[in-house]
Amino acid sequence: MVETADRVAFPAWALRLTLVGFVLVWIFGPIELRQAVPIWIPFTIALGLELSFVWSALRAPRAASLDRRPQPDDRERFGYEDDESELLLVDDGERELWIPYQGESGEELDELIADARAWADEDEAEHEPVAVAPRRSYRLPVRRFLTGLAIIAGLGVTAWFVESRTGWNSVDGDARIAAVERFSDEASRIAGKTVDLRCDESRDFVGFVQHADGVAIVGGDRAYLTPEICHSLYRLAFDDRVDGNATGRAIAVLAHEAWHLRGETDEGRTECFAVQSGVVLGQRLGLSEDRARQLMRQQLTENALRTGATVEYRVPPDCRDGGSLDLHPDDSRFP
Ligand SMILES: [Zn+2]
Repeated sequence: MVETADRVAFPAWALRLTLVGFVLVWIFGPIELRQAVPIWIPFTIALGLELSFVWSALRAPRAASLDRRPQPDDRERFGYEDDESELLLVDDGERELWIPYQGESGEELDELIADARAWADEDEAEHEPVAVAPRRSYRLPVRRFLTGLAIIAGLGVTAWFVESRTGWNSVDGDARIAAVERFSDEASRIAGKTVDLRCDESRDFVGFVQHADGVAIVGGDRAYLTPEICHSLYRLAFDDRVDGNATGRAIAVLAHEAWHLRGETDEGRTECFAVQSGVVLGQRLGLSEDRARQLMRQQLTENALRTGATVEYRVPPDCRDGGSLDLHPDDSRFP
C-alpha cells in the first residue's frame, strides 16, 4: 500500500509541475506556441494521467486483499508451507485460525482447532500483534486526486482568463464582424469570385481533430479559419502588429483556403500559389513588400521541412522562379 502510494506520488507531482510550466510558457511565451497548441490538449492529457494514477492506486492493493485463501505468508507462519493439505479458515471469536484439514470430523476436528488455538496464542505472545490484513485507505489516493484536480482547475481558469483577454475572443463583436468582412474580401480577390470567410470560434470545423489551420471545400464559396489564424490576421490588419512567423503563417493560410475555393485541389500546388499570393495579400494587410516577401519565403522554407502526415503539403519541384507554377514568370523574385 505504502509502496504503491509512493510510486504514484512522484510522477503525479512531476506531471503537475510540467503542466504548470507549460501553462506559464503558453501564457508568457512566444505567441507561436499559443497558435500551434490548443490549450485543451495538455489539460486533457493531465486529467487522463491523474485518473490513471488514482485508478492504479485504488485498484492495486484491492486485488491482494480480496484473495481469501491462505497466502504464502500464512502457510509459513503456521508452519504448513510444504503441507499439501487444505487450510481451512475458522472464525474463532476475535481472530481467524487456519486449520490443516484432511477430511477430519468430530473430535479429531476439535483437536485440530485446539492445536491451532494454542499455536496462535503462542504466536501472539511471541510477536507483536500480527498485522491485520492491510486495511485499505481510499483517503490518500483520493486526496491526491482531488489535489491534482484542483491544480488542473486553477490552471484552466487562469488559461481561460488569459485567452479571453488576449485571443480572438477578446476582440469585440463589431470589430470581429469588420475583420471577417475584410478577410472575405481578400479571399474573394484571390479566389476570383465572391467567397465567405468565417472564423471557427467553436472549432466545429477546424483545429480539433484535423491538424489544420483552415478548411475549405474545393470550388466552394465558404472557408473556415481557426481563431488563432483570425487573430493573427486581425492584429496585422487592424493593429499593425506583426508576430513574425505566426503572421506569415496566417497570411499563407488565408491565401491557401482562397486557392481551394478557386478550384485548386492538390495541396502542394495550393500551397505554392498561396505563398505567392501571400506577398500581395501581406502588403494589402499592411506589410512592406520586403517584409511580405521575407515572410512568404520563410513559409516556403518551412514547407520543405514537411514530412510524414503532412508531406502532401510539400510544394512540387516546379514551384520555383520560372517554374511552371510561377504565377509571375517575368518577375525574378520568388515568391
Ligand atoms: Zn489545403
